[in-house]
Amino acid sequence: MKTLFIDMDGVIVDFMQSVKNHPEYEKYKNEIDALPDVFLNALPMEFAIDSVGKLLDCGKYEVYIASTAPWGNIDSLSHKRIWIERYFGERLKKRLILTHRKDFLMGDYLIDDRLKNGAGEFKGEFIHFGTDKFPDWNSVLEYLL
Ligand SMILES: [Mg+2]
Repeated sequence: MKTLFIDMDGVIVDFMQSVKNHPEYEKYKNEIDALPDVFLNALPMEFAIDSVGKLLDCGKYEVYIASTAPWGNIDSLSHKRIWIERYFGERLKKRLILTHRKDFLMGDYLIDDRLKNGAGEFKGEFIHFGTDKFPDWNSVLEYLL
């Protein structure tokens, strides 16, 4: 089995939509990571839940979630944990890694929309979500399945 890490915001979580729809957006627009419950109430990205399910089902990958929780938003750590259970039940239980150093992750693939927090220095293959090569989940599945 290959080890596959999947980022949350901008890959399976529609963080920007949650930001834009937040009632306190104007007050927090210069520190969007600090918006109350912004991670808890975010909706999934299109096809993300189904696609991660397919990657879990295909038997080729040991799937982990690798996300960075903003240091200043203390609730975000538990909210990310709640979010994973809300959308995946037990399927990703104990498979959530919260880190600012994604370059420390040992594995084969990382799907991430940004190069930040060590993602760009990941030692395995970097699948850059949202780029021309991997614009959406369909293109990622086509490549990995
Ligand atoms: Mg991201």
